[in-house]
Amino acid sequence: MRAVKLTAPGTLELVDVPTPEPGPGEVRVKVASAGLCHSDIHVLHLPTPWPGPDPTLGHEGAGWVDALGPDVSDIETGSPVLINLIWSCGRCRPCVTGHDNACITGGRYRYPPTPGLGPDGAMADYIIVPARHVLPLGDVDPVGAGPLADAALTPMRAINSAREWLTPGATAVVIGVGGLGHMAVQILAASTGARIIAVDTADDKLDLARRHGAHETVKSDGDAAAAILAESDGYGADAVFDFAGVQPTVDLAAGVVAPEGALRLVGLGGGLLNYGANADTAALPWGVDIRKSYGGTRADLLEVVALAARGALTVEHTLYPLADFQRAFDDLEAGRVSGRAILTP
Ligand code: NAD
Ligand code: ZN
Repeated sequence: MRAVKLTAPGTLELVDVPTPEPGPGEVRVKVASAGLCHSDIHVLHLPTPWPGPDPTLGHEGAGWVDALGPDVSDIETGSPVLINLIWSCGRCRPCVTGHDNACITGGRYRYPPTPGLGPDGAMADYIIVPARHVLPLGDVDPVGAGPLADAALTPMRAINSAREWLTPGATAVVIGVGGLGHMAVQILAASTGARIIAVDTADDKLDLARRHGAHETVKSDGDAAAAILAESDGYGADAVFDFAGVQPTVDLAAGVVAPEGALRLVGLGGGLLNYGANADTAALPWGVDIRKSYGGTRADLLEVVALAARGALTVEHTLYPLADFQRAFDDLEAGRVSGRAILTP
């Protein structure tokens, strides 16, 4: 079978590898879609070679169960499934207390096993998945569904952690309307009464946000903070979600969150949050609740699939044949993708 592998820093190759067989507790999934995440761009540009064997990328996969491991019997071959992002152990304290996105196998600063970032991922004809980490997709078409596993899951966790702020009448700010951000806008629109202000540098991304339920859009520039504060009585937004995480957006997020508001940092663009403990030097108002949000739980993923099943969450996407992976990566990196780029074998 074919697989897109990171073979050196900055280099991806489509290579032929043996089609893998599922072992005990595993299933093989015939891939229907593999989303390209901006995290894949970060991985592509890591300065040092990947430790261990060249990884097959792709942490946003969906497809059809194709073969079962010797002891797996409760899944039907041919059934459409979404592949969980985080292959949590299911037994540690974080897992059993509902924080499986912070499974102890990830340690303090890394992340639990994730397809495409260690175990071989979904940018291939087939992928091996622990049987407990495939979720039935029901009537949702797996072609186009892969990004639900991360681009929707991750905003769902960030939003679920801020539910108490997202009352009717609240203002929510979504910064960065890319793969994750356009899902966040839809989740907010479908599941809260909050007024949604979307922020991006690109006009076409602001149009995308409006099409998916944003009430206001603000161009991300030097005037953005003043524009958002003007929209919120000068006091600030109740919940702010940063899906870019570059310095200008982290500063903007901190500059527009209301006192006692929720600040959710998701983007991995290298920005630093300037926290000052003293009121007169602080870049943050009092009482702000801050979370560095990672992925989502299995419960969050069930909610994502439920919203998708009733048509409240759709991945705006462009399909690229697997062999065209380089064009897809180039388009994502250049900001030419609306929603998500998806590889399909
Ligand atoms: P994307 O490339 O699809 O979207 C990024 C969006 O941010 C684009 O629309 C871009 O125009 C916008 N943007 C860039 N600079 C901006 C600025 N200064 N102001 C406003 N908007 C700006 O990326 P994505 O796949 O949605 O991923 C977004 C980020 O989230 C990446 O850094 C990715 O690595 C990270 N991520 C984090 C997690 C997590 O669990 N924390 C999970 C997945 C992805
Ligand atoms: Zn991702």
